[in-house]
Amino acid sequence: MHVSSENIVLAGAGLSALFIAKFVKTHFPEKTVTIVDASSEVGGQFGSIDFGPHGLVDHGMHVYYDCCVPEVDQLIQSALPDSEWNIYHDNEKDVAGIFFNGKLQTHSPYPDLRALPADKLARYAGDLLQSCANPSIDEPQNSYDFLLGQFGKSLADEIFVPILEKLHLRHPRELHLLASRLTAINRVNLFDFDFVAELSAVEKLRDRIAFPDQMALPRIRVNNQRALYPAKFGFAHATRALQHELIKMGVKFHLKSRVNRLGIAADRVSHIHLTDGDQNDHSIECDQLYWAAGLTSLAKFLGVSLQGFMPEKRPPTYFVYFKFGRKPMMDGLYYFYCFDRSFRSFRVTNYSGYCPQAANEGFPICVEFWSRESDSLSDADILSLARRELESFGVVARDWIASFSAVYKGNAIPIPSLSNMHSLDRVRDEINQKNLLNLTSVGLLSENHVFFISEVLRDAYDKVRRNFNLN
Ligand SMILES: Cc1cc2nc3c(=O)[nH]c(=O)nc-3n(C[C@H](O)[C@H](O)[C@H](O)COP(=O)(O)OP(=O)(O)OC[C@H]3O[C@@H](n4cnc5c(N)ncnc54)[C@H](O)[C@@H]3O)c2cc1C
Repeated sequence: MHVSSENIVLAGAGLSALFIAKFVKTHFPEKTVTIVDASSEVGGQFGSIDFGPHGLVDHGMHVYYDCCVPEVDQLIQSALPDSEWNIYHDNEKDVAGIFFNGKLQTHSPYPDLRALPADKLARYAGDLLQSCANPSIDEPQNSYDFLLGQFGKSLADEIFVPILEKLHLRHPRELHLLASRLTAINRVNLFDFDFVAELSAVEKLRDRIAFPDQMALPRIRVNNQRALYPAKFGFAHATRALQHELIKMGVKFHLKSRVNRLGIAADRVSHIHLTDGDQNDHSIECDQLYWAAGLTSLAKFLGVSLQGFMPEKRPPTYFVYFKFGRKPMMDGLYYFYCFDRSFRSFRVTNYSGYCPQAANEGFPICVEFWSRESDSLSDADILSLARRELESFGVVARDWIASFSAVYKGNAIPIPSLSNMHSLDRVRDEINQKNLLNLTSVGLLSENHVFFISEVLRDAYDKVRRNFNLN
């Protein structure tokens, strides 16, 4: 066994670890930084899948949305020259739709109910205004509480409960508040432009009532956050650039190296033990360890009991890719969520919407396809079902021929159930009770409010600054 001496070790080479490494080397160039990852590529979920002659594709939709901490955004953006990014502002940063009630809705990502009979609309509007004026729930404990507080009972029960049940397989009463943030279910379209423009002046109404044209949002509804995506297709163009930059700064990478054990001495993690791609064992000494490779594996390596932690898992989820010679009929949308129960699609991404260069060799589309418990599907079945759903959405026509298609088994979004989230809270507590002075847990769900990359990086930034007494 080879033993080498290192200093600051990052387990996982996803965007959170790449960011921390760059932050440390920018502020403390003399520090030794080592990154290890089980994969042969950096980037984690923000890396790309390489289909050889067919090029790169992303894991579903992964665009960098500013976390609005200038130093963090600057460290990510400077991985590529400005000319090698597509940078979107204002109404163009997130052009999203939904498939809802049998129709692809492209003007707004929030359910549009304006075509409903007037008496129903009046009931919904009355309930919403009532819940806004007299909130029945001060501190929502689950996603149903959130819906009741946001919209009142009729809209919650008749419109939003079925949507959350489709997405997360549970009544929202059993879903953590995180579920109400994963997809945009916080607003509804009830009124036409002029009236909504007037209502927009009131914050509580602005937070509940959608503006019916996302490309013409009034200034008061737009923030400064930007969206960044590499000019070339494949977010890996940015994560690989970060890797090259870090190598130049002296960071060492051990890829294809899976952490399989942590060495603990007194109140510190003394070593990480790895198995590399050739099945050789290594160990690396650490002065500080940033764990950015998943909370449950950290728990396992620290001997935190996962007994009683029976994660409520989804049936397998797949990324299904197609390339067509014609532009998908999505009216400029970058992506849309499918809210209708009869479909297995979760989200459809139109890459050329935000990366025009993606269309160079056919217009790529990704269907995030969530199978069902009863399914026993081959890749060919998945391809044909996903293709049929694209046709039903009206995104492609029956006679379009795909020049490329592929199925890739993806990482599922964990079910944001109360049970799962409470178990993760317990796991976090037990990890903290180990009081390991040189261990910092970062990344996806390292804290219960941390999921999107902007949240992950803000949290990582706070933690790394605290460790270096930079606060
Ligand atoms: C299906 C899905 C869809 C998402 N969609 C969005 C979205 O649209 N927008 C958004 O902002 N966020 C989205 N997210 C969240 C986003 O992916 C995360 O915020 C982000 O990837 C977190 O980065 P990370 O570096 O913490 O982790 P990851 O990107 O998950 O990277 C973790 C790394 O750890 C490595 N690793 C794991 N175990 C080991 C081990 N034992 N040894 C060595 N290495 C190991 C993995 O190979 C991986 O490279 C989505 C997440 C999922 C799962």
